[in-house]
Amino acid sequence: MRIVVSGAAGFIGSHLCDRLLADGHTVVALDNYLTGSLRNLAHLAGEPRFSSMEQDITRPVAIPGPLDSVVNLASPASPKDYLEHPIETLDVGSNGTRHMLELALEKGARFLLTSTSECYGDPAVHPQVETYWGNVNPVGPRSCYDESKRFAEALTMAYHRKHGLRTNIARIFNTYGPRMKLDDGRVVPAFLGSALRGEPITVFGDGSQTRSFCYVSDLVEGLCRLMLAEERYPVNLGNPCEMTILQFAEYIRRLTGSQSPIVFEPLPEDDPRQRRPDIAKAREVLGWEPRVSLEVGLSETVKYFRMKELPCPK
Ligand code: NAD
Ligand code: UDP
Repeated sequence: MRIVVSGAAGFIGSHLCDRLLADGHTVVALDNYLTGSLRNLAHLAGEPRFSSMEQDITRPVAIPGPLDSVVNLASPASPKDYLEHPIETLDVGSNGTRHMLELALEKGARFLLTSTSECYGDPAVHPQVETYWGNVNPVGPRSCYDESKRFAEALTMAYHRKHGLRTNIARIFNTYGPRMKLDDGRVVPAFLGSALRGEPITVFGDGSQTRSFCYVSDLVEGLCRLMLAEERYPVNLGNPCEMTILQFAEYIRRLTGSQSPIVFEPLPEDDPRQRRPDIAKAREVLGWEPRVSLEVGLSETVKYFRMKELPCPK
């Protein structure tokens, strides 16, 4: 297949490109490098089935030649990034998604949206099932991301209903791995960076809020299965192994053998109190579930940070 990947120079996008190329596909990568980096794609230079274009997808997108699939990952994704770029985040979820949907329509291609567990907001239903409509503050600081993704989901369903476009929606839960930016503020790089440097590990709130962490290769496997599926409604992709953020901080300290103290800072506004995906639908529709343990995934991530990021943080 010939596949367009938007947001290809980001963390997940670059791993997806690697996997699609390894599976024999041809990849056209689009990115405006707002939060991603060409460094994540540098190893693909010279690969004949790979090409990369600087493209802001909030601008009209023209790709010559046939296309079989469009995968839309373009969006700031870490709270630090979307709080710094709230308007760009709303723009890419709305206008950007529209341009990618139009591209898929023009080419008769399939379309996969990478949405998020943030659609559930601070969830009152636990674990989160796809049929839960969520508890989102529409005017809070996180609303630029949450509502952008909720709009993108609605737009994707509208293109399916109106035009019969073959669409899929992945609701991705916290995912981690190599090529995350050490300074992007998300909890995995934040805790690992502090632990490896021997600096205090900063837990927000009392650390009783929960998350679960999916290794990037597991997530990419789920995306590859979903992009071929006939399921039009959202499918959760994430790891259901839930822990509190304080437990996670203690786990990171043990894993890295760090002496870093754990310190506490105020909880950011609207920080979800609990989060865990119900992945029964992904198991049933895709035959998918995560395989990589937290220990193995974090060890791979530590190796990457030690090799690439720690000597010269961006
Ligand atoms: P990332 O920031 O590393 O990657 C996003 C990429 O999109 C970056 O390379 C960025 O430059 C690009 N981009 C942003 N605006 C753009 C625009 N207007 N035009 C073209 N490119 C643009 O983030 P990530 O973690 O790789 O996330 C990828 C996708 O997965 C995002 O859509 C995110 O919402 C979704 N997601 C990620 C997670 C996670 O835990 N990593 C969880 C839920 C959802
Ligand atoms: N968090 C933390 N310290 C940090 C970064 C994050 O305690 O340095 C917490 C944050 O408040 C949240 C959880 O870790 O409860 C996950 O945060 P992240 O930014 O990775 O993603 P989120 O799931 O909130 O989108």
